[in-house]
Amino acid sequence: MKIAIDIGHVNRSGSRGLYGLEEHERAQVIAEELQRLLRKAGHIANLFDIPTLGNDEELVRVAKAINEGYYDLSISIHFDWAATPGPHGGHVCYISERGKAVAQCVAAHLCALLPGRADSIVHRPGLYILKHTVPPAILCECGFGTSPQDAAILRDQPDAIARAIAKGIADYNATLA
Ligand SMILES: [Zn+2]
Repeated sequence: MKIAIDIGHVNRSGSRGLYGLEEHERAQVIAEELQRLLRKAGHIANLFDIPTLGNDEELVRVAKAINEGYYDLSISIHFDWAATPGPHGGHVCYISERGKAVAQCVAAHLCALLPGRADSIVHRPGLYILKHTVPPAILCECGFGTSPQDAAILRDQPDAIARAIAKGIADYNATLA
């Protein structure tokens, strides 16, 4: 498959978490490892990140580039934020039915690593990047940066997060065969 990996937000514009975590910085670390794993598995995997733009303009440009590149799949990497330390766990957002199939495969692994939410996949019709990309698209919220247990995984095990997402993509790919 030809897979687009969108690094969430531009520099310093995303969520902040415990231990000084910053969303774009962690998303980049996870995305780079995910790219390595997907390439190792034989996929074409390209990163999308235009940190020189503002958030809104970046989303428009990234969605356009993904569509013009005829990707088979689009994966956005983010982490969540809450006002209190309690909320924790990963989840995967989607809009389309095909996106939902990818979300189910990825959430099975991501939420095993980052448990805590009843809704491991969430229909988010308003999310720009999901709404404006042509290929099946998901947005991974890789836990809460504000939760002590999730933040420790984001800080210490970004590779494990990337592996979980890669396993989910492998499962999805197997359903296409
Ligand atoms: Zn985000």
